[in-house]
Amino acid sequence: MKSHRQELWFEAPQRRAFFNLTPQVNQCLRDSGIREGLCLVNAMHITASVFINDDESGLHADYERWLEKLAPEKPHGVYDHNRTGEDNADAHLKRTIMGREVVIAITGGKLDFGPWEQIFYGEFDGRRKKRVLVKIIGE
Ligand code: ZN
Repeated sequence: MKSHRQELWFEAPQRRAFFNLTPQVNQCLRDSGIREGLCLVNAMHITASVFINDDESGLHADYERWLEKLAPEKPHGVYDHNRTGEDNADAHLKRTIMGREVVIAITGGKLDFGPWEQIFYGEFDGRRKKRVLVKIIGE
């Protein structure tokens, strides 16, 4: 069995952002040379997510509004976590809702997606460097 590990780095200029990771994960898969196996992609930070969905800007605006309803950024004082001196309790909650990782089957040297599936990095507390792990195993 072959194994390939790679990190992807991001720095969102704003607090919240979505990035389509699919081209970079495809490049990782080509670099691995693996044709049959599994590909794990996970956020390495507890205020960011990796998820799979449609690359449609209206949907991304809907996510932003929905997440702000569930876990509004402000007022910071409503969150116990922010008593530590941080202001990112909402980002931890958004990360939990949107998930830590995705696993994609690799078939015939390609990511074996359903219709419209794309991989996204969801940043909820940006303006600093953060990373995503890509681990591919198979043969
Ligand atoms: Zn925190």
